[in-house]
Amino acid sequence: MLQVAVVSGKGGTGKTVVTGAIAARFSGSVVMADCDVDASNLALLMMPDIIQTEPFYGLNRAVIDPKKCVLCGVCADNCRFNAISVSEKRVDVNQVHCEGCGVCEFICLAKAVKLVPYICGEVRSGNTRFGPFIDGKLNPGNGNSGLMVHTIRKKAREISPDIPLVLIDGPPGIGCPLISTVTGCDIVLLVTEPSSSGRHDLERLVTVCKSMRCRLVMVINRADLVPDGTHDLRVFAKEESIPILCEIPVDPMVVQATRAGVPFSLSDSPATRMIQNVVEFIQNELKEE
Ligand code: SF4
Ligand code: SF4
Repeated sequence: MLQVAVVSGKGGTGKTVVTGAIAARFSGSVVMADCDVDASNLALLMMPDIIQTEPFYGLNRAVIDPKKCVLCGVCADNCRFNAISVSEKRVDVNQVHCEGCGVCEFICLAKAVKLVPYICGEVRSGNTRFGPFIDGKLNPGNGNSGLMVHTIRKKAREISPDIPLVLIDGPPGIGCPLISTVTGCDIVLLVTEPSSSGRHDLERLVTVCKSMRCRLVMVINRADLVPDGTHDLRVFAKEESIPILCEIPVDPMVVQATRAGVPFSLSDSPATRMIQNVVEFIQNELKEE
């Protein structure tokens, strides 16, 4: 099973649109996993029929038994996350601020604190016309995005073990969800654009991915928008020994198809002809599996 993560240093580079275009060309041979758990949107393009929705449990949270609590306030004094408030009549734990560290449970002599499982989102699975689909949504204000990415990837590998390709739509940035997304992937496909912010965030992304020994390839999206910027990206890629698989031009067909909620690679256009290079690269990798 080949695992390919599509990532970008910043949002708005067209990462999800590129992921969808690749997935559509591997119809019947791909599992899609949307690991952009803070803003998942691959479903808008791939239109899955969701078959199963499961609760996602993050770290445990503290709850206080008012019958046992003697209102001493020691737990609040020792909570480093300021998650506990004490009044004359009760002690409350803010479930969003609680990190489940367990200090309050350890320190409470009245044994009034318990750590309990806490639902902080959901993981969904279903089918698209191209193959199985998994994504996840964290409830607002909840962390544990790295843990959710891990859960989604595990499910993607298990849901159809005979399918040779897992294609992951990764999160933007270089934080915990990105690290969880690229860890153990066979190929990391960097989607970038010729803007100064795109270049800056790409550099940070490459630094992180290289520190994790990821195998990197690159796609430059909207490559004809800023020719000088694209030239700089080519120089950067050469210096970093990252192959550029294709340069996708600005193409009205991409906008039209995306607005219609379909992958652009289902129609013939300049962008589709460029994506074919990525498809052939992955096909060759699959042959060597
Ligand atoms: S330490 Fe225990 S008894 Fe004291 S306020 Fe906290 S929960 Fe209540
Ligand atoms: S488990 Fe940790 S973070 Fe949560 S309320 Fe207790 S001390 Fe604070």
